[in-house]
Amino acid sequence: MDKLLEIKDLHTSFFTHVGEVKAVRGINIDVHQGEAVGIVGESGCGKSVTSLSVMRLVPSPGKIIKGQIYFKGEDLLQKSEKEMQKIRGNKIAMIFQDPMTSLNPVYTIGDQLIEPLRLHKNLDKKAARREAVELLREVRIPDPEKRLNQYPHEFSGGMRQRVMIAMALSCQPELIIADEPTTALDVTIQAQILELMKELREKFNSSIMLITHDLGIVADLCSRIVVMYAGIIVEEGSVRDIFYNPKHPYTWGLLKSIPKVNMTSRQRLIPIDGQPPDLLKPPAGCPFVPRCRYAMRICQEQCPGLYSVSDDHNAACWLLDSRAPSVTWDREGVSLK
Ligand code: SF4
Repeated sequence: MDKLLEIKDLHTSFFTHVGEVKAVRGINIDVHQGEAVGIVGESGCGKSVTSLSVMRLVPSPGKIIKGQIYFKGEDLLQKSEKEMQKIRGNKIAMIFQDPMTSLNPVYTIGDQLIEPLRLHKNLDKKAARREAVELLREVRIPDPEKRLNQYPHEFSGGMRQRVMIAMALSCQPELIIADEPTTALDVTIQAQILELMKELREKFNSSIMLITHDLGIVADLCSRIVVMYAGIIVEEGSVRDIFYNPKHPYTWGLLKSIPKVNMTSRQRLIPIDGQPPDLLKPPAGCPFVPRCRYAMRICQEQCPGLYSVSDDHNAACWLLDSRAPSVTWDREGVSLK
C-alpha cells in the first residue's frame, strides 16, 4: 500500500502568556492509501492538535515549529495558504465532534452542500443540487429533496453528523480526518454513524484518520491504532496488537477502562488515576511515571524511545528493555517477574 500521509517528527506548540505548551512533541505517523488509522488518547494528549496541524488549521497562539507533513509526497508545511485552501475539503476533509461548529445556522443545508460542489467540481446549480440530494441519500437522510431546504437546527444531532459526512464526501477526498465524530451522540446513533463511515470508506476507498479518546470505537473501523500520551506516541500497532498484545502500561489502563459485554453489574470500570503532566514543563523521563505502578528509576531519568515489538508494533516503555523485569499482561492484570 502506498503512503498517502506521512507525518514526520512533528512538533506543535502553543505560545501562551505563561510559556510554551509543547502539545505535540516529535511524532511520526503514516496513513496508507485506503487505510483507517485510529489516534487514541485522553483529552490534551495532542491528538486533535495533530489533526489540525495536518489541515494547517492550528489556532493562534499555536504554531507548528518543526517537522514535515507529506501528503502524496508533497510537504503540506511548504504550501501557501492559497494552495492549502484547494486541498482542504477537496483532497483532505475534516469531520468535527460538534457539527454545529461547522454548519452555518443561517444557511440551509442545501446552500452549504451545493456551494462547495459548484466551487470544487465546477457544476452548474442544477447538477450540484442533484448531486447534493444524492449525497444526502448516500448518508441515509430520509426525504433528501425536502431536507435540503431546511436549516441545521431542524436536524437532530445524529442527522447533522450525517450531513457533515455528506459534506466531507462531496468532493471525494482521499483522506478524511474525523475528530471525535461520535462523542456528542448517544450510543445507538454513535453505532449507526460508525457503521455508515465504515460502509462509505469501503465504497469511496478514502483513507481515514479517526481521532478519539475511546479505544472501544476504533476496533470496528480501523486497522491500525496509534496511542498518544502527553504529546508523544506511546504505542502503535494493528488493532489485534493493541487489543490482544498491548505493551504499554497506559494502553493497559485504556483497555481496562472499556466496558465489556460480559461485565456483571457489580464489576466496575477501572479508571487511570492521576493527571497527565503539565506540557509547559514536560518531564525529562517517561511522562507516564506519576501514574504508572511499574515505574523504575530509569523511567524518571530518561524518556524511552519506541521499542519494536514486532513488524508494525512499537511501544515506548522501559519494560521492553532487555534489562527490565519481564512482564506478562492479560485482561485480568499484569504480573512482574
Ligand atoms: Fe511506566 Fe516506566 Fe514504562 Fe513509563 S517507561 S510506562 S513509567 S514502566
